[in-house]
Amino acid sequence: MKNILESKFIQEFSNVIDRMYLNGWDERNAGNVSYLLLEEELSPYLDLSKKGRVHQLQIDAHKLAGKYVLVTGSGKYFRNVKGNPEANSCIIRISQCGTHAEILWGLKEGEVPTSELSTHLSSHIARLEVDDTHRVIIHTHATYLNIMSAVVDLDEKNFTKALWGLNTENIIIFPEGIGIIPWEIPGNGLIGKNTANKIKTYKIVLWPLHGVVASGETVDSAFGLIETVEKAAMMYMVINNYSNYKTINDEELIKLASAFKVTPNKEFIK
Ligand SMILES: [Zn+2]
Repeated sequence: MKNILESKFIQEFSNVIDRMYLNGWDERNAGNVSYLLLEEELSPYLDLSKKGRVHQLQIDAHKLAGKYVLVTGSGKYFRNVKGNPEANSCIIRISQCGTHAEILWGLKEGEVPTSELSTHLSSHIARLEVDDTHRVIIHTHATYLNIMSAVVDLDEKNFTKALWGLNTENIIIFPEGIGIIPWEIPGNGLIGKNTANKIKTYKIVLWPLHGVVASGETVDSAFGLIETVEKAAMMYMVINNYSNYKTINDEELIKLASAFKVTPNKEFIK
């Protein structure tokens, strides 16, 4: 077996987690990431015929039956993942019935996957229904999005347009806008359900006064989406200190979308 710590997926996963920590988004044990792995990319590194430690799931995950997921551990700190991925994350396999998973690698001291595992699995199920290339869910406490959620009306259209109007790339990167769920207690079934409902339409969903959940076909695309939206939120919070500022107007946004062949959310702009 090859050394899994040298695999592309562990490197990508650890590096992006470290970057989010360095961005100041993931203090203490904030944030969690999950990455759907293909059997063919995993099999050179792990003997997949072996059974793993059983972990009961809180949701019915039969739609992910047999899938492998690299996911951060409960209570683990992003700061420590890159230095020791095996102690801070794990690879699980979802059972055929979808009621439990087996921990095949990592978290050897009996620890369990993130308390947001239900949100991650529900979000993977929801994204795979609309995009069969989907693979990554990232939850992080992006700073300026949190600040913005405290001061801006939590209306998806207004929130999205405030972001689209500030940076030319935005409508191209997230033409569907940003989804917003009501404030909710983390780690419970409801927040996962609400997020999964939104993430079918929006690749990024805001949890007010908490953070975001973003999806992507790759680690880079999920992270790049958060970076883009977070930067727009930072610009919004800085620019609002000025009484008179310019934004990209609707006519220009429509021209932009057309030039880059993206379809903006029709509820937000016509
Ligand atoms: Zn969180």
